Amino acid sequence: MNSYSYLNRKSVVSLSIGLCVLVLVSILIFSKENSISNNIIFSIVIVLLLYLAICIKSIYEATLKTLRETEQKLTDSENEKYFMAYYDEVTKLPNERYLLEKISFNLTDDPSRKALLVFEVDRLSAIKSSLGSFYTNRVLELIAERLQTNFSNMTIGKLQEDQFLILIESKNEKEAFLSLCKQLIEVMEKPFCIQHLSLNITVNIGFAYYPEDARTVEDLMKCAQFAMYEARKVPEQCTFYEPSMSRVREEQLKLENDLYKAIQNNELFLQYQPQLKLKTKHDISMEALVRWKHPEKGLIPPADFIPIAEETGLIVPIGKWVLETACRQTKELQEALGQPVTVAVNLSLSQLFHENFPQVVSTILHETKLSPESLQLEITETMTMDKNFLMPILHNLKSLGISLALDDFGKGYSSLSYLKDLPVDCLKIDRDFVKNMNENGHEPLVDLIISMAKHLQLNVVAEGVETMEQFNYLVNSECDAVQGYLISRPSSYETIMKNCSGIGKEDVHCDTQSEYYSFIKRIFN
Ligand code: C2E
Ligand code: CA
Ligand code: CA
Repeated sequence: MNSYSYLNRKSVVSLSIGLCVLVLVSILIFSKENSISNNIIFSIVIVLLLYLAICIKSIYEATLKTLRETEQKLTDSENEKYFMAYYDEVTKLPNERYLLEKISFNLTDDPSRKALLVFEVDRLSAIKSSLGSFYTNRVLELIAERLQTNFSNMTIGKLQEDQFLILIESKNEKEAFLSLCKQLIEVMEKPFCIQHLSLNITVNIGFAYYPEDARTVEDLMKCAQFAMYEARKVPEQCTFYEPSMSRVREEQLKLENDLYKAIQNNELFLQYQPQLKLKTKHDISMEALVRWKHPEKGLIPPADFIPIAEETGLIVPIGKWVLETACRQTKELQEALGQPVTVAVNLSLSQLFHENFPQVVSTILHETKLSPESLQLEITETMTMDKNFLMPILHNLKSLGISLALDDFGKGYSSLSYLKDLPVDCLKIDRDFVKNMNENGHEPLVDLIISMAKHLQLNVVAEGVETMEQFNYLVNSECDAVQGYLISRPSSYETIMKNCSGIGKEDVHCDTQSEYYSFIKRIFN
């Protein structure tokens, strides 16, 4: 029972008692036998009347209060319902429904040019899978705060998952939008400090114009999103919508659908490319590279489907399949050759952050009986940006006895001190640097990377070696291994196994470097 209805009940009881007393006193006044003085009786009546008046007033006030409270509760629940329907729960920003209704109203009302900007937060799913939703929600809240502080004169909204929207009501030209883009990137670049962690995010930005690109808000949002998906592929992280993007996206959606079935339908397979050692005469090392044989489109390169797998989260089951298959086939190859073979497997960021990745690796090694020294995992520089997250995972992986390589080295921006702390064993020089080696073989950056690696006591593998000039130069450098079409293109497991069947025990032990080169070529070509 709430206090108001209690008060109301009390007042009603008092009022009833008052009325009863008044009736009794009235009977006394009009009774002939009464012996009490009339003055006293009148005083009692006056007091009683006053008392009754007070009771009536308090009943009235309590009723009014109850009514007001009920009304307030109704309004609150209406507001709550409205908030839930039209605002994002975490960021408290207007949501997609609100924006569709509000902006569409504006568009019909005012046909002047506008731009719609949609951006997504990269790496949010990685933060979620590694740290949980508390951190993700806090990041989203802080992004919303930064947007409200820096773009207060614009309509800001929150779309699905990790996307935000800004409506720019201006006749400004492309340059002005580009500078807004730059401002947005700068605003989001500053680390997000949550509890003891400092988190970095990046954003991909897409723009679409009204009325050129689309005439309804829904279509305009879609166009800006298509542009945003394209922005993932450009270094500026920002693109303007073009009609071709819709077609690309449709194709991608179809591919995404097909990729879901690729593992079940046995459409994925691995190829292996050898890494030729320059300082030894016996090691067999190779990198596993995934391939997709699409039933209609034929062979699809990993560059086309790995990004889709990463976006959709399919990279987790695909990556696990790659790791299992590579370990199993390498073990079989070791048995066929009767000597150790090392395999390097590429990893994607979300794989590292998914569940207990070191445990997944350990189980696979146990099940396939491959010794940990035979496995190398390749990570890229950009994956190592969030050191706080990554360090414990990398150390756990290392404690299994496997080795780690930093792939595509030189493309990222790792500083020397940063590199020093990473528990990696090997640097793989990106093929762009190797490609730049001129006729004399000299490319200052290759020399620099090799000497840096040597100072840090890391192995160096040069990727994409295609010419004898490049090869000869690297042979004379401190480089430990080379990988590229010159030695062998990636080969299927079946080819390698077939080649191994003709190899005898005596072929495995090479006396000279050139014997070793032809041995490797024989296995992989
Ligand atoms: P990556 O890890 O840098 O792999 C080396 C790529 O260079 C391979 O391309 C290989 O075929 C190619 N390559 C090797 N030698 C030469 C050469 O002499 N010249 C030229 N032009 N290219 C050469 P591929 O197989 O198309 O793979 C592309 C990328 O896809 C890989 O680059 C890697 O980042 C990714 N990838 C491949 N397999 C996997 C996988 O299982 N998981 C993940 N997460 N990514 C993978
Ligand atoms: Ca690689
Ligand atoms: Ca590479």
